[in-house]
Amino acid sequence: MMDNQPQLGNLDEDGYTQLDFSSRNITRPVLSKKGFYAISLRWRVIIAVTLGVLCVVILVTAAVLSTMASSSCPPSWITHENSCYLLSTPLTSWNKSRNHCLKLGSHLLKIDSSGELKFIEEQVSSQPYHSFWIGLSRHQDNGPWLWEDGSEVSPNLFQVTSTETQEKIAHNCVWIHESIFYDQLCNVSSLSICEKRLSK
Ligand code: CA
Repeated sequence: MMDNQPQLGNLDEDGYTQLDFSSRNITRPVLSKKGFYAISLRWRVIIAVTLGVLCVVILVTAAVLSTMASSSCPPSWITHENSCYLLSTPLTSWNKSRNHCLKLGSHLLKIDSSGELKFIEEQVSSQPYHSFWIGLSRHQDNGPWLWEDGSEVSPNLFQVTSTETQEKIAHNCVWIHESIFYDQLCNVSSLSICEKRLSK
């Protein structure tokens, strides 16, 4: 009757009864040394695999988020085909407008195609009281009009209308007003159009 109950031992100093397991055939859950290392190794593998999978998930998520972020234009920029355009720029000279675009990771507008020209004409025509600097200038009077990357304007894309007067002051920068491109004094203040490529 008493076999399954621990033997009541002597009372300790505080009066509590001490249980004596030593004289009974009661086994305690002690793992063998081999078993301990086997379980430990298994857990190590599980933890390593879990961490590995977690790292892959984090990397894939970061890559997806990065792609999503770069495949859309920043706020206030207008998306058209593979570019972003900013028309809300400070009123300032051609040079300062150019620097402003550079600070934003962009460049003054370069018109590469008739489709891009049509889009820009639509945008600036909605603001008939403003002119906009574009990335077209020349180093000297009667020199070729060059984009910021050094290339010339595609033939038959558009013409630059001269505004030079008898004063012979060089008008070596170009702005667009409604649908017409004018040469202009580079230090006149104007809005401008910044452009940057839309990353895919
Ligand atoms: Ca362009």
